[in-house]
Amino acid sequence: MSVEEFIQTYANHPVYFSPKGPRLHAKNWPAEAALRMFLNNISHDVAEDPERLVVYGGIGQAARTPQDARKIVELLLTLEEDESLLIQSGKPVGKIRSHAEAPRVLIANSNLVPHWATWEHFNQLRARGLMMYGQMTAGSWIYIGTQGILQGTYETFAACGRRHFGGDLRHKLVVSGGLGGMGGAQPLAATMAGATFLGVDVDPERIKKRLESRYLDTMTYDYQHAMRLVLAARDKGEAVSIGLVGNIGDVLENLVRDGITPDILTDQTSAHDPVNGYVPHGMCLPQALTLRQQDPEQYRQLSLKSMARHVGYMLELQRRGSCTFDYGNNLRAFAQQGGEANAFQIPGFVPEYIRPLFCEGQGPFRWVALSGDPEDIRVTDEALKDLFPENVHMKNWLDHARVKVAFQGLPSRICWLGMGQREQAGLLFNQLVREGKVKGPLVIGRDHLDCGSVASPYRETEGMKDGSDAVSDWPLLNLMANACGGATWVSFHHGGGVGMGYSQHAGMVILADGSERADRCLRRVLHNDPALGIYRHADAGYETAQQNAREFGLDV
Ligand code: NAD
Repeated sequence: MSVEEFIQTYANHPVYFSPKGPRLHAKNWPAEAALRMFLNNISHDVAEDPERLVVYGGIGQAARTPQDARKIVELLLTLEEDESLLIQSGKPVGKIRSHAEAPRVLIANSNLVPHWATWEHFNQLRARGLMMYGQMTAGSWIYIGTQGILQGTYETFAACGRRHFGGDLRHKLVVSGGLGGMGGAQPLAATMAGATFLGVDVDPERIKKRLESRYLDTMTYDYQHAMRLVLAARDKGEAVSIGLVGNIGDVLENLVRDGITPDILTDQTSAHDPVNGYVPHGMCLPQALTLRQQDPEQYRQLSLKSMARHVGYMLELQRRGSCTFDYGNNLRAFAQQGGEANAFQIPGFVPEYIRPLFCEGQGPFRWVALSGDPEDIRVTDEALKDLFPENVHMKNWLDHARVKVAFQGLPSRICWLGMGQREQAGLLFNQLVREGKVKGPLVIGRDHLDCGSVASPYRETEGMKDGSDAVSDWPLLNLMANACGGATWVSFHHGGGVGMGYSQHAGMVILADGSERADRCLRRVLHNDPALGIYRHADAGYETAQQNAREFGLDV
């Protein structure tokens, strides 16, 4: 197939999808893996808006323009094993000489010198076609659809249940805003954890997408109807989820007025981006889309005020007994800018529930079957259960995921694994490929939301024991470690999750194609990557991380 035929078949904007099966289109499997994952990220089944190349998380993109997407495909199809492609904010800008065990692609997205690291400056550059927003896994080509955050969300709700409700979320009501690419995991995560769930989104199309992919049970446009359904379900202890079309600030106002106090309250609207993400109070979606274009500054002001109002109601419900936490979208900081001085009385989810996992080098390990065959994921699930028979929690998760998760695009799986486990799993997967037990290579990656790959003082590194929340040497070391180790592609981004100026973070993806080269790279990368998490938390004074450092021979 010629390059042009390939583009007509798989990358004819806006219709993108990944090739499947064992046939190579690029010159080698590492380049083919990057090609398939890039196309998968922007395919209709996976991306929130392929027309605009938006994958998830507000305006998180995988390529800057359709022309850049085309060029990336052309270059990956012809990339040699001793070359590495350079991507600057979604645009291919060159190739360098490297070697077979070096990353095939080096990606830098949305990075700005700190003094200029604001949405205002970024949006000016974006308007001039000079930058794109990479979010976390959008621009680093390892987004796997809503499943990517499902387990993390499930673990968070379950941890909240253990801490506040004796481990039982039946008869408990969870309320949240935002049912987009990541927020759409909330209904399924909450019901998997046993709770009743109400999710509110201004965009009915987003809610429909969650119904289609079986993440949500029911949708309604009517507040009264939604409340009748959720209250009846909560009283009966039924784990069902309802998506309500509306503005979350308005719905919380109604809950306060009606004296309905959720047991758990959080939010995953795209608050990290006040202009292109959050929808202000008092306007319908088409009005918001018009104002965004016509007067972004007025829009920004309205957004900040609305976030203050929204958080004001969250604080009131917190006072009335809702277990309330920030879910990593920087809502508190923007609400504070909009005038809600007490916004930070709401705790962040990482210090509350996730940091102990980070101290064990745990994080959102994920893998994708490049064959496109769902059976390959079943084989990997079973192999993992055999590898870690003592890990009942992981077994339960994999069994649940098998039944409940509908794949989006190439079949994939997420499963949080820790130091030691990630390396064992990676080598096992490479063996499965080598022995033909799966029908094609697997790629292994993770979110940038991981133990040693991110500096984000309002999220992953909020409230560090030694006050080192804003130190971004760590994600840079993580990037360099993964490049040296031989990840198949690496990335460094700014502003993911919480917006411009608030975070810096690194990503990595590594191929298991059954080769000895892959064995060597997997051994290095899947050791080094979680080790950075242990080093980072041990250095900050966390005792469990220090114990783990001793156990894994990482004390220096
Ligand atoms: P998205 O852009 O795909 O979806 C956001 C949704 O919020 C959209 O459907 C939009 O219609 C809706 N929305 C915006 N303003 C609203 C309002 N006022 N009321 C009701 N709905 C509103 O984004 P996403 O990928 O779902 O991510 C959501 C947020 O969560 C982002 O800020 C992202 O950075 C953050 N995030 C958190 C985690 C985590 O681990 N907690 C992980 C990934 C992303």
